[in-house]
Amino acid sequence: MTDQARGALRLVLGDQLSDNLSALAGLDPERDLVLMTESVAEATAWKHHKQKLVLVWSAMRQFAQRLRDRGVRVRYVTLDDPANTRSIGGEIARALAEEPLGRVIRTACGKWGLEDHLLTLAQTLPVAMETREDDRFLCSRQRFAAWAEGRKELRMEYFYREMRRATGLLMEGDKPVGGQWNFDAENRKKLPAGVRPPARLRTPPNAVTREVMAMVGTGFEDHFGRVDTFAWPTNPEEAEAILDHFFDDMLAGFGDWQDAMSWGRPFLWHSLISPALNIGLLDPLTICRRAEAAYRAGQAPLNAVEGFIRQILGWREFVRGVYWLKMPEYALRNALDAEGKLPWFYWTGETDMACVADAVTAARDHAYAHHIQRLMVTGNLAMLLGVHPDAVDDWYMVVFADAYEWVEMPNTRGMATFADGGIVGSKPYAASGAYIDRMSDYCKGCRYDVKDRNGDNACPFNALYWDFIDRHEVRLAGLGRMMMPLKTLSKMPDAERAAFRAKAAATRKAMGV
Ligand SMILES: Cc1cc2nc3c(=O)[nH]c(=O)nc-3n(C[C@H](O)[C@H](O)[C@H](O)COP(=O)(O)OP(=O)(O)OC[C@H]3O[C@@H](n4cnc5c(N)ncnc54)[C@H](O)[C@@H]3O)c2cc1C
Ligand code: SF4
Repeated sequence: MTDQARGALRLVLGDQLSDNLSALAGLDPERDLVLMTESVAEATAWKHHKQKLVLVWSAMRQFAQRLRDRGVRVRYVTLDDPANTRSIGGEIARALAEEPLGRVIRTACGKWGLEDHLLTLAQTLPVAMETREDDRFLCSRQRFAAWAEGRKELRMEYFYREMRRATGLLMEGDKPVGGQWNFDAENRKKLPAGVRPPARLRTPPNAVTREVMAMVGTGFEDHFGRVDTFAWPTNPEEAEAILDHFFDDMLAGFGDWQDAMSWGRPFLWHSLISPALNIGLLDPLTICRRAEAAYRAGQAPLNAVEGFIRQILGWREFVRGVYWLKMPEYALRNALDAEGKLPWFYWTGETDMACVADAVTAARDHAYAHHIQRLMVTGNLAMLLGVHPDAVDDWYMVVFADAYEWVEMPNTRGMATFADGGIVGSKPYAASGAYIDRMSDYCKGCRYDVKDRNGDNACPFNALYWDFIDRHEVRLAGLGRMMMPLKTLSKMPDAERAAFRAKAAATRKAMGV
């Protein structure tokens, strides 16, 4: 019998749980076999948050069951299967040894290291391996590379405009709806007193999820975070429900308060879709079209809808493009020569800095923090302290339910810490306590004084900020958008500069950096 006639082994990974996955196109339910495996190697490469483990394994088990319900043959290797070889490559080899299949069909991986591993493995397998494009993204790797070719700088804004034109989203002919591409300037409001965000739609754990919660609760006790507060969607119906909730109750407020932060309220008007979206339970283009329809039906203002679409069509696709364009070298970038350790309170939340404690508590309890908490609180602090980008990457990979290297790394090493030297962002997102005070209610409940720049009770962000600008003065001088702080620094008396340096050094020491 020819290899073609023998049927295919079709690989489905934990972040590939989409019914329209390219690896499943043309599937023959009688001859083909779908392989899914709970990989210990992938689960423990980082000590992922317990909720992330629950999410992925519960969603995988339910995906496998949906395939079986359609009459598809599935070889599902659970974690506690004594024969589990603990790795994806090992399971492909074992399946092929046990069943006479003619080829392997898979969708390209989201992670550079795993893709590299599987391409190497393909050379040693007894049958051919076909790798298909991951067409759940709106911009292919090749198309992004073509867009990037010959550009001096890669800027999300220009990429985003191309994507708007290519998809026709929020376009009137060849012009952007509303006469401008980006309404970000309208999306920076602080939360007014008395305005309350809608309650989060919690997804009660279903039977499969409860089973996996028990397994993770006992088997992965040493991983970060709480498991009992798990409330993420684990199948397409549950994911649709949180999307409905977002469109009904939150989209209209998403724009205005997109950058706001509020103590004890980690979710605000954010969609909470990233954990489901990143494993394939939702489709990005469908979400964007639905947002556009809400605008056209008068259900949400343009600043909210454009801002939301930009995150998915712009930022999400852009960071993926950068990741594939620049890996593996990207993972080694450390443009600011940061060598410090991550402070212990990133894991415990035990700090008097109210903003940091709140972000870490959200991460521990919900495997979530919203974008500005990730960027301007934990990311900003790590950059100002000079924490090594590897340690920062590790933290972000561990603590969030939506963490996958292709999206986490360009956000962390690029946007938040400028370790990539300016590929993702045109300048470091460095800020003193004044920014956090402007965008949140944190400072009024904090032990530190945000207005104090260098006294005993001064907000730690303040001295760290000026010390950062001082330490990197030469490098930052080349970045037009840093003109203002550099000018202020140049007018600063030497004694004040020295005092900031001394205070920042003492802070770093006290934090164990
Ligand atoms: C340091 C840092 C690390 C991050 N790590 C991750 C990560 O591991 N996984 C992840 O999915 N996102 C990451 N982000 C991006 C962003 O913070 C999250 O996507 C967002 O907070 C998820 O919450 P939400 O679904 O409520 O998003 P919303 O605020 O409702 O936004 C809607 C969607 O837009 C997309 N999006 C928004 N901003 C970005 C962005 N900067 N990059 C890519 N997609 C974006 C996400 O898919 C998100 O679900 C990171 C950002 C920073 C600054
Ligand atoms: S005073 Fe400083 S440390 Fe405290 S909440 Fe405000 S910004 Fe954060």
